[in-house]
Amino acid sequence: MALLKLYNTETKKKEEVQQKKNPILLYTCGPTVYDFAHIGNFRTYVFEDFLKRTLLFLGYKVRHVMNITDLDDKTIRGANQKKISLQEYTEPFTKAFFEDLSLMRILLADAYPYATDYIGEIIAIIQDLLKKANAYIGNDGSVYFSLRSFPTYGRLSHLKLQELKEGASQRVCVDEYDKESASDFVLWKSYDEKRDGPIYWESPFGKGRPGWHMECSAMALKLLGNTIDIHCGGVDNIFPHHENEIAQSESYTREPFVRIWAHSAHLLVEQKKMSKSLGNFYTVRDLTKKGYGGREIRFLLMQVHYRMQLNFTLLGLDAARASLQRMKDFILRLRTEKKEGVFGKIKECLQEAERGFTTAVADDLNISSALSFLFDLIREVNTLFDQEQIGKKESQEILKFLERIDQVLGFLPLQEEVEAVPEEVQKAFEKRNQARAEKNWKDADFFRKLIQEKGYLVEDTPQGAVLKKREVE
Ligand code: AMP
Ligand code: ZN
Repeated sequence: MALLKLYNTETKKKEEVQQKKNPILLYTCGPTVYDFAHIGNFRTYVFEDFLKRTLLFLGYKVRHVMNITDLDDKTIRGANQKKISLQEYTEPFTKAFFEDLSLMRILLADAYPYATDYIGEIIAIIQDLLKKANAYIGNDGSVYFSLRSFPTYGRLSHLKLQELKEGASQRVCVDEYDKESASDFVLWKSYDEKRDGPIYWESPFGKGRPGWHMECSAMALKLLGNTIDIHCGGVDNIFPHHENEIAQSESYTREPFVRIWAHSAHLLVEQKKMSKSLGNFYTVRDLTKKGYGGREIRFLLMQVHYRMQLNFTLLGLDAARASLQRMKDFILRLRTEKKEGVFGKIKECLQEAERGFTTAVADDLNISSALSFLFDLIREVNTLFDQEQIGKKESQEILKFLERIDQVLGFLPLQEEVEAVPEEVQKAFEKRNQARAEKNWKDADFFRKLIQEKGYLVEDTPQGAVLKKREVE
């Protein structure tokens, strides 16, 4: 079996993911549910999904945890502005996130821990760090991590601790900051009534709440153990978030926290990072409202190697759509072929395509090379069609190959699209969920049947109900 080679941000080298009997432990930083995720966020989530699918395709087992950040500066601000509880505020965005995951054909993780469920674990780690003098209580009552106590701080983002020490006279109490402000960072924020309103937890170091970085450490250590095989995020997570995760986790466990750090480059709009703060973003639902499907968005996001920046345009999305349409026509041709063909030549082409595709994805997810093997195959098959060498049996073999590689790609148009849900179905879905919440089983049943008549299905999952289009043969 081919081993996956993956670029490690820390060592700046491609490294082999060692094959083990046990699953590969994968932790990916999840969404901050203070708003809808934009497609920049989804570039990172799709990259992580591509990585996971490649591991599975190559025969690895995977245990995947993605956290839900329902507790940070932004969610607290949002809840307090609306004068509602943190849970009431974050719930709709969490629900939307899971709907978008399904639309983007992202495989579900094994666990989605919520930061608010890990306060006990977080407090225990902070207590230990205080005991070991890796942390101290500042004069504002908050608990800070002491950079000086962790000599290899900066090794992920390749910053020199000495330079940081010179620049860092103060401490940072906010969750997000840049390299210029590198300094002792907050583990536990003491309560501030004006800022936090009714949102706080009791702890041995007083009322307050955890810093964002500490949350990921606590969830990763608890659910995956002291050493994780692969930890992912977007490049903006490298500093300070992941650098801080290393410092806290390793000070706590005294063991290496992560073997390979993998980060995806940004999705840009006119050469600027797509972000909420710049207002230059599209959410998945903005694009589905314009009539684009999840498959098209996924293809666009995956087309460029994950370590290269990708500039988003609607024209690019149209090109992705056109490309998928050509693939759809090709698949239809394969599906409807009835005559006898000649097997010899196509067998060779398929073996070559499979070898090439596998080698390409195993080499740090080299998508351009992987796709070139697919497109070469399509070209050759079309030539063989013209020579009347492709018949029913050959077409079935080609379709099987496409299904195999779609385990990795996840965007080939092998079934009907599930997106672009008609408004009446969406409304019936909402009414059905409401009826269920009110334990009105009769109405819930009525709306479920109505949804089915329109060609859709409702599936109840641990994350809530999801709407799916019934597969057509
Ligand atoms: P957040 O919800 O802000 O914590 O971000 C969730 C994930 O999306 C993180 O892994 C970020 O690194 C990533 N991310 C944010 N903006 C972009 C972007 N423009 N391109 C790619 N990834 C991004
Ligand atoms: Zn994280």
